[in-house]
Amino acid sequence: MMYRTTLNNRINALANNYIYINQDEISHSLICPICLDPLIDPQTHVLCNNSFCNRCIRKLRYCPCCRATIMELNDLIVTSDIIRNTLDELQIQCNICKHILCRGDFDNHIRNDCLQLSLITSEEENNSNTNEKYLEKHLSNLYCRIRKLEDGLYESKKVILTFLFVLSIIGIIILLNTILLYIIHLTISGLFTIKLPLFIQAIQKFLFDFLQ
Ligand SMILES: [Zn+2]
Ligand SMILES: [Zn+2]
Ligand SMILES: [Zn+2]
Repeated sequence: MMYRTTLNNRINALANNYIYINQDEISHSLICPICLDPLIDPQTHVLCNNSFCNRCIRKLRYCPCCRATIMELNDLIVTSDIIRNTLDELQIQCNICKHILCRGDFDNHIRNDCLQLSLITSEEENNSNTNEKYLEKHLSNLYCRIRKLEDGLYESKKVILTFLFVLSIIGIIILLNTILLYIIHLTISGLFTIKLPLFIQAIQKFLFDFLQ
């Protein structure tokens, strides 16, 4: 709502904010005898057929050309379409964005093109440029940091993989060792529990036979 109001105020403030291209070459029939500028919203005095800007003639009680008093609204009629169309086709330059266009398109230009695209004051433009530069710098810093993090991650990954590889090798060695030790244990215990008594018995028997 605030924005709308501000926008409309801006549009109103900018009405007719243009200059004519080659104003000297504009036909006299298109010039208002009161303000000496090209006619705006022209009205024609029915008695003398002269045309004036609506806002110019409304201020007067008489016609500046024929001196007749303007008593009624009917004394003035809307100027012919031919003149209105010719006025609409006058070339103008927008004071805000310096765009050259037909006068009839100016309102539309202010509402749709000029305000939104070009009515950024130089200060706002500078601000947005500064912001853009700041954002660009910020982004490139972020990219740098992301790249560094990625590199770090890659290095960490390599270290972790190497560590896991070494760990699994150690695990396999420990496992093999355990199996080996178990086998040795089995062999030795088997030797002592089964073979040793037999061996001792054999020695005893041998000694016994020998002594007898
Ligand atoms: Zn005028
Ligand atoms: Zn008149
Ligand atoms: Zn403009």
